[in-house]
Amino acid sequence: MYQPSLIAFVAFGLAVAEADVTAQDTRWPVDLDMVAKIREEGLQRSGLPNTFSYMTDVIGARLTNSNDMIQAQEWLVREMTRMGLENVAREPFMDYGVSWDNEYVSLHMLKPDYSPMVGYPIAHTPGTDGRQQLFAVIADVHTRADLERYRGNLRGLAILSTPPAIVDQRRFETGTPRRTDEELLSLEQDVIVPPPGPDPYFSGLYPPTPSNPEILTAAQKLEFYVQEGAAVVLESSSGWPGAVRGFARAGAKIDRWSREGTLSSVPVIAITPEHYNRMYRIAARGIPVEVEVEVRNRHGSEVTQAHNVVGEIRGSDRAGETVMLGAHFDTWHASPNASDNTSGVAVMLEAMRILRAVGATPRRTIRVVLWSGEEQGLWGSRAYVRKHFGDPQDPTIGKKDAYDRFSAYFNQDYGPGEYRGIWLQGNEHVRAPFAAWMEPLRDMGMSTISPQGVGSTDHVPFDEVGLPAFQFLQARVGGTGGHTNLDFFDTIPLDQLKKNAVIMAVFIYHASISRDVLPRKGGTDRPEG
Ligand SMILES: [Zn+2]
Repeated sequence: MYQPSLIAFVAFGLAVAEADVTAQDTRWPVDLDMVAKIREEGLQRSGLPNTFSYMTDVIGARLTNSNDMIQAQEWLVREMTRMGLENVAREPFMDYGVSWDNEYVSLHMLKPDYSPMVGYPIAHTPGTDGRQQLFAVIADVHTRADLERYRGNLRGLAILSTPPAIVDQRRFETGTPRRTDEELLSLEQDVIVPPPGPDPYFSGLYPPTPSNPEILTAAQKLEFYVQEGAAVVLESSSGWPGAVRGFARAGAKIDRWSREGTLSSVPVIAITPEHYNRMYRIAARGIPVEVEVEVRNRHGSEVTQAHNVVGEIRGSDRAGETVMLGAHFDTWHASPNASDNTSGVAVMLEAMRILRAVGATPRRTIRVVLWSGEEQGLWGSRAYVRKHFGDPQDPTIGKKDAYDRFSAYFNQDYGPGEYRGIWLQGNEHVRAPFAAWMEPLRDMGMSTISPQGVGSTDHVPFDEVGLPAFQFLQARVGGTGGHTNLDFFDTIPLDQLKKNAVIMAVFIYHASISRDVLPRKGGTDRPEG
């Protein structure tokens, strides 16, 4: 560490006035005048509530490759263009499958007592054959031996396919609005970084095939119901009070979201635990349960490409180098998913708006990418990283030129809570720049640097190929959480998101003007330093 001098800044061509610079390290200058402009723009004239409300209220859910998503991305392209971003485009990343959109759901218990019910079709399942009145029976098969008990008895029925969900009352609690000082300190002091292992999020969402061949996989269960001629399959697996959690048809990822796979399935509907459990308990008494169901879904006729949406603020003397920010734009389909991840998208758009509004002139090009295919397993970001940056460890694609000209990627996807610090992702070499850039944001709660790494979202594909990529350390926020039918505008703390956009803009701007690109793990690969 050494004192900066005016000569050093002039030598590196930085548009930073001497009086504005308090950083101790010329590699990571802090432009306090720009920080002030960003704070005024982002905290006093925020555009975030308007954009966020439009996305959650008017646009709504955005399942990967659905017509909903395509229309939403077309809006996004218009919005980013209107903001003055350059090179705005929907960039294809893979032949994904056929589109799938839910257009209508109607669900009721008719007997023994009338009650409307709340449920949503599982993605990539067919609709019902019009409005159907069906008897519901229990057939929550678990092992191969269970199949014999139900074989020949399910034709034309509504199947209660899962055991009663255990309703978790703790979900009603409002959560911890902030991490406590003790928690933040312990994150800071948690200095031993374990080697990377399997990601718990994805192993939970897509459980591996059971090693015991007697235990049925979700796809095998569904296949049985189809073979037996069941009319619809009902399920409830989350146990979150009042909430429906439902994802995609078992096997959809294997058949690549195909039309054939969808149409050869049976309609599958996820229901709130209370409504589902009630039917289950009545049926278990031997009292007939009659339901009325109508689901209309729209299926594309051919395989189409899924897209990410990109946009840039061109850099000046280092325009060939990139600093990136992003969040996944795709959601599950039962709500606007205000927290997961419309909140992250709103922060990225607002950070870019702020940088344009204050007239920031980055040296490096700032590129924002709003991903797709994240919920199905980071498809958009992984394909993007491989295409644009390559992978030095993979001889089939190698390292692309842009790999060495990349500085860093910043992502948000851990809910709508405010940033309290940042995870180093095991990269001690970025501690100095992050500490310098956080200093003028300390009053906003940015206080903690944790050396730990985090996973489960779109910074992972960058990190996996050795590129610096980060998530901020976010406060926990109560509410309904992601992946439910209850994730709307109303439970989102907008002021926390405004702060996040300011912090994001400050980080991105400083990464774009620093002398060097951000160092990689091990301190290597510092191009053109
Ligand atoms: Zn997410």
